Amino acid sequence: MTPLAELIAARIRASGPVSLAEYMADCLMHPRFGYYATRDPFGQAGDFTTAPEISQMFGELLGLCLAQSWLDQGAPARFTLAECGPGRGTLMADVLRATARVPGFHAAADLVLVETSATLRGIQAKTLAGHQPRWLSLVQDLPEAPLFLLANEFFDALPIRQFTRQSGGWAETMVGLSDEALTPGRAPPGPLAALDHRQDIAEGRIVEICPAAAPIMAEISGRIGRHGGLALIVDYGDWQSLGDTFQAMRDHAYVDPFATPGEADLTAHVDFAALARAALPAAASYTTQGALLTALGIGARAQQLAAHPIAARNDPLAAARRLTDPAEMGTLFKALAIHPAGSPPPAGFPIGNTMDQSAARGGRDDA
Ligand code: SAH
Repeated sequence: MTPLAELIAARIRASGPVSLAEYMADCLMHPRFGYYATRDPFGQAGDFTTAPEISQMFGELLGLCLAQSWLDQGAPARFTLAECGPGRGTLMADVLRATARVPGFHAAADLVLVETSATLRGIQAKTLAGHQPRWLSLVQDLPEAPLFLLANEFFDALPIRQFTRQSGGWAETMVGLSDEALTPGRAPPGPLAALDHRQDIAEGRIVEICPAAAPIMAEISGRIGRHGGLALIVDYGDWQSLGDTFQAMRDHAYVDPFATPGEADLTAHVDFAALARAALPAAASYTTQGALLTALGIGARAQQLAAHPIAARNDPLAAARRLTDPAEMGTLFKALAIHPAGSPPPAGFPIGNTMDQSAARGGRDDA
C-alpha cells in the first residue's frame, strides 16, 4: 500500500466509506502525499501530455484570442491575465510570447496564477521568470477587474461524485475496504436535488457531478459580468455527463484508480452544460478543440513553423493534426468561452452555439 492508501484505509476503518470526491481530493492534493503536491507529472518522462506540452501553437492561438477580445472590449487599461491550474507554466509562456506584439496588452496585464501545488508553483516561477506572476490558491481572491482567463485540463482534476440511477433514487459510488484493499462500492439509493435535471438517465446508468465546479465558475463569470473579459476553458468531456469517466493514468497508460493512490493522475470528464449554467448570467459559447484551433488558424501557423526550422516542441504539422483530428484530441476535447452577456462569441467560436439567458430557454443546439 502507498502511504496515502494507509491513511485513507485508516480513515475508512474509523468512520466508514468515503465518496469519490473525498478520495480524489486526497489523491491529487494531499499536502504530503498528493499526486500534484509531490511531482511534475507532465510530458514524455511523466504520466501524461497536455495540449500546451504538445505544441506552442495551442498557447499562441488561445493567447491571441484573448488579446483580440481585450481589444474588442476597448482595451481596458488594467486587467487580470489569469490561468487556473497552469501545470508547468508552458501555456502562459506561449500566451505571453505571442501577445508581446499586441500594443499595450502586457503593460495592462496583471499576471495571476491559480495553483495549489507548491511543487508546480516552483516550476511555473522558473518558466515565467521575468514576467512576475502572482499566485493565488482560490479563484475567490482574483481581483475585481476585467478578467481574461485560461483553464486547460483544470476542471477535469476537480473531485467528482458519481451516482448510479436505481429504482429508489441515486446510489453514490463510495470507496471502502475489501480484504484490506481500497475498493469501490455503492451506498443505498436516495433522492438528490443536484440530479433533478437528469430525468433522462435510465436505471442502471451512471452520472457524475463536480461540486467544486459551479462555485469556481460563479467567481470567474461574476468578474466577467461586472468588469468584462473572457474565460477560455478547454478540457475533455461533453455537453452533459454520462457514464463512468473516472480514470487514472500513470506512465501514459490507464491504471486502476484504486491501486496506487497519490501515484497516478485521477480525472473525470467535464460536464460543460453544468459549467455554462453556473456562468449565467454571463454568456457561454461552446465548440470542439479541433474546430476552435482550426478557426483560429492552426493550419497556417503550422505551415509557417514548418517552413522555418526552429526548435519546436514537436513537428508542427504532426502536432496540429494531434490537436485537431477527430481521431485524436480534436473532438474529445471541448472549448467553452465565457463572455459578457449580449456580446458575440469570441474569435474561433461559431455563431449560434451560445447559451445566455435567452438561450437558456432552448437556444443552444448540439455542438
Ligand atoms: N494546464 C496545465 C496543467 C493541467 S494539470 C496543462 O495543460 O498542462 C492540472 C493543474 O491544476 C495542475 O497544475 C494542478 O496542480 C492544478 N490544480 C488541480 N486542482 C486545483 C485546485 N483545486 N486549485 C488550483 N489548482 C489546481
